[in-house]
Amino acid sequence: AISVTSLEKSFSNEQVLRGVDFDVAPSEFCVVVGPSGSGKSTLLKCIAGLVPFDAGSIHLDGRAVDEVDVEDRELGYVFQDFEERLFPHMSVAENVAFGLRQRENPPSASEVDARIDEMLDLLSIPETRDNTPSELSGGQQQRVELARQLIRECDVMLLDDPLADLDYKLQKRMELEMRRIHDDLGSTFVYVTHNQDQALKLADKLVVVNQGMIEQIGTPEEVYAEPETAFVGRFIGDTN
Ligand code: ATP
Repeated sequence: AISVTSLEKSFSNEQVLRGVDFDVAPSEFCVVVGPSGSGKSTLLKCIAGLVPFDAGSIHLDGRAVDEVDVEDRELGYVFQDFEERLFPHMSVAENVAFGLRQRENPPSASEVDARIDEMLDLLSIPETRDNTPSELSGGQQQRVELARQLIRECDVMLLDDPLADLDYKLQKRMELEMRRIHDDLGSTFVYVTHNQDQALKLADKLVVVNQGMIEQIGTPEEVYAEPETAFVGRFIGDTN
């Protein structure tokens, strides 16, 4: 479970998170949705322990994130700077397998191979297996990074608009896969997007943010049909 309490974060003189409170239950698919610049990525990076925060707390299974060593964090995360995270000299298959092979007790070579193929099929990029990242499009690179994280089967997955770079049809197809992957893994997902349709379709729980504050938390049905603020009504509900 994830618990975020009174979280505040500023960059120089801009307050990006202004007291954010929400919980994510084990195995829940939580979607944080809000307009560009509302602080979604910053929130996710704070949960990942990648960005220090100014006030409040974040607990993962009862442990404060800022007190856990980076190596001990069993987290998978995909951020928008994925290009910088893929190993340029390794093939797609080697990139995807990296996290598995680094384990203390790695699976057998044939099992690793089978899981790479399964992941690449799932994400519709089997033909990229032997390419290096620089030979791929942005959307393909994004899916390689996603495969690399999902294959680790972490209890907590933090995903920052992982389908943002894909064309419309592929995005629609991947949305279904995303929900299926979540249900298969049984992991806790915190999924950030500015796309209202995607948020409504994927979430067990929606967290609507605007200007660094939470406007509403609820099921997609509740948020859509009973917006609690004018902003939510405009941004996501059926009022215009
Ligand atoms: P988007 O959907 O466009 O990615 P977002 O909701 O994820 O937006 P953030 O990326 O968290 O929003 O950014 C919120 C604000 O914080 C923006 O005004 C941004 O310029 C600022 N910001 C984010 N990271 C930094 C940083 N490292 N240094 C300074 N300002 C930052």
